[in-house]
Amino acid sequence: MGAKEGFIQYKRELPESRSPEERINDYKEIYKPFDAKKLNEQSARCMDCGIPFCHQGCPLGNVIPEFNDAVYHNEWEEAFHILRSTNNFPEFTGRICPAPCEASCVLGINKDPVAIELIEKNIAEKAYELGFVKPKLPKGRTGKTVAVIGSGPAGLAAADQLNQAGHEVTVFEKDKKVGGLLRYGIPDFKLEKWVIDRRVEVMEQEGVIFSTETEIGFNIKAENILSNYDAVVLATGAAQPRSLNIKGSDLKGVHFAMDFLGKQNQVIAGEIKENPISAKGKDVIVIGGGDTGSDCIGTSNRHGAKSITQLELLPKPPQQRTILNPWPEWPMTLKTSSSHEEGAERVFSILTKEFVGNKKGEVTGLVLVDLEWKEENGRMLFVEVPGTERTVPCDLAFIAIGYIGPAENGLLEAFKVEKMENSLPKSKNYQSTSKKVFLAGDMRRGQSLVVWAISEGREAAVRVDEFLMGSSSLPRKDEGFYQVEEEVTL
Ligand SMILES: Cc1cc2nc3c(=O)[nH]c(=O)nc-3n(C[C@H](O)[C@H](O)[C@H](O)COP(=O)(O)OP(=O)(O)OC[C@H]3O[C@@H](n4cnc5c(N)ncnc54)[C@H](O)[C@@H]3O)c2cc1C
Ligand code: SF4
Repeated sequence: MGAKEGFIQYKRELPESRSPEERINDYKEIYKPFDAKKLNEQSARCMDCGIPFCHQGCPLGNVIPEFNDAVYHNEWEEAFHILRSTNNFPEFTGRICPAPCEASCVLGINKDPVAIELIEKNIAEKAYELGFVKPKLPKGRTGKTVAVIGSGPAGLAAADQLNQAGHEVTVFEKDKKVGGLLRYGIPDFKLEKWVIDRRVEVMEQEGVIFSTETEIGFNIKAENILSNYDAVVLATGAAQPRSLNIKGSDLKGVHFAMDFLGKQNQVIAGEIKENPISAKGKDVIVIGGGDTGSDCIGTSNRHGAKSITQLELLPKPPQQRTILNPWPEWPMTLKTSSSHEEGAERVFSILTKEFVGNKKGEVTGLVLVDLEWKEENGRMLFVEVPGTERTVPCDLAFIAIGYIGPAENGLLEAFKVEKMENSLPKSKNYQSTSKKVFLAGDMRRGQSLVVWAISEGREAAVRVDEFLMGSSSLPRKDEGFYQVEEEVTL
């Protein structure tokens, strides 16, 4: 595996990013290209550990040591085939995955883990550059039709797999362009949208049909989809935001994060002229300490906000793993994103009690109180710290405290899909309670990650293929190693 002592010889290195002062003037990707020699050294750090925990760490089961080895030997085509065998879209995950694989890399026990995500991105980019990403036609057509509803990473992965299995796949998308939250959620400075266009073009050449600006349940009725297609994959995401339900939530200037982020991506794409929500010159408060909150910070800085504060209910996490959070668990440590580096105050253990406003109905401040967290019978509970209640100025507030499940718009009911008490749809092996309707991605598992959405799309595709054909030769995650297939190119 690679260089025998690469993990001793080389330190973990990542690409330099453009300076925060420079990058907040645009929405372009923040990382500079990485030197080929350095990338080779990074792949050499993979140490042939025997039991590669990174496989389990990756929700796709990416075959990481093997592609690291291929990169080390400059066998880019081989590296790409290994990566592509488990991941339909490494160009997405190589840019925006939080890389749970790295958290479980064996080298991470006492050193910095292998830079797996960086290597993945470079394999994907090299594959496009050297022409290894070619439209691949299925070996034959089955005559079966599948409607995939929703074109986020789950829908795209399901469509890609089902098309390769020979089914005629139509992806319906209500938005103007394909991509789901990849396009209208994740900011361009994390994922530029040409990356999605490039992949969608290949899928079109392979025979996948995309029908955009088509909302199922509105432009086309669910019963028409059910009668016109042999199977349906619902991959419509988990768009119902969690609300705060406190006094003043309806004031002007209090918004859900996605109302701001989605519009900004549309502005950058030239779909609309300006964002109806501007952070310019404002005291911005972001409620919620997660990634979506961090994206609001990055975007507010680019708008030219006067001040940005991010509030988190939970206590500040430790800088290092504690004894209760050992390797290979996901590290519950303090994460500092590129958006945090660009400037924002972060406050932990704090509760927003109320929004206050002026006579015009505009938000002017937030009533906050400090919290103290205590463990009681194995559960973490908080109490308000007496005497700490205060009002802080705010003229723009973003609520970024997660999503509760699929949009409550009657779509599941129209497809006769039953729900559980937690508002997620019932499913068994990705099949819903409605026989020919399968589920994938955030709408099935709840708000999650791109890598999980791709994994869900792939696994749901296997079940759809089995349902249509009686059996399936599509790869499953638990099958392990890849095989180079005979390719039919256009
Ligand atoms: C702001 C933000 C930032 C994020 N950043 C990251 C990140 O950096 N890394 C990461 O791994 N994850 C990130 N995530 C999470 C990730 O984007 C999601 O987990 C992932 O996109 C879910 O994929 P999906 O295909 O299930 O659903 P989605 O991406 O939500 O796609 C669902 C699609 O279905 C369409 N649709 C809905 N209803 C209909 C209908 N009736 N008819 C037709 N189409 C319909 C929607 O328009 C949408 O395009 C982020 C999420 C948000 C909100
Ligand atoms: S998809 Fe994410 S978890 Fe899997 S190997 Fe790539 S970076 Fe790691």
